[in-house]
Amino acid sequence: MRILLIEDDARIRADVAGALEEAGYVVDSESDGEDGWHLGDTETYGAAILDLGLPHMNGLSILKRWRASGRNFPVVVLTARGSWSERVEGIDAGADDYLPKPFRMEELIARLRAVVRRTGGHAAPVIVAGDAELDTRQMRLAVRGRPVALSPQEYRLVAYLMLNKGRVVPQQELAEHLQSVHFERESNAVEVLIGRVRRKLPAALIETRRGFGYLVPDAAMAP
Ligand code: CA
Repeated sequence: MRILLIEDDARIRADVAGALEEAGYVVDSESDGEDGWHLGDTETYGAAILDLGLPHMNGLSILKRWRASGRNFPVVVLTARGSWSERVEGIDAGADDYLPKPFRMEELIARLRAVVRRTGGHAAPVIVAGDAELDTRQMRLAVRGRPVALSPQEYRLVAYLMLNKGRVVPQQELAEHLQSVHFERESNAVEVLIGRVRRKLPAALIETRRGFGYLVPDAAMAP
């Protein structure tokens, strides 16, 4: 899943980007408010982490503009410690969660995972589809209780499909969540990756809807 990080403090930005990558996410990071707003307005993201004090456009304006134009991805706002007015304004502007600075990286990642899960309609950190069980905290996939070894890229693919289980995910959307905006996308990268993942998983877990995309069926909804 691709995350947009907008933070003008170079050190925090590098630390957060590193922690996100370690947690299995793809990250686009931006230091300028206006450039960051533009990325969120034109690219596809699973979530954003947004600082409030930014050059050229502040975080609250960015958030209000995204929400006004129908950008509904979850947003975690980074606020100054003790500033209750910033928290209230952030939530009113459409933030899904907030975290006062300074924060522990573990807490930021946990909050991010939680807003992403809630957006997908999953309250628990473990997502089950058929025989497969995905633990989003440990970034592990197990099939019938047996762990499956996946590369970070393969994990991202399976996790994104499982978070969206029951919905056909277009190939283009998958590609956008697997690579940072700064990388050139190869047209068949998703197909190659799907092929690799399929060899490791039960055949029924990922369905191909030719011309539409890929689907992890919601076992509970199957007849
Ligand atoms: Ca700042």
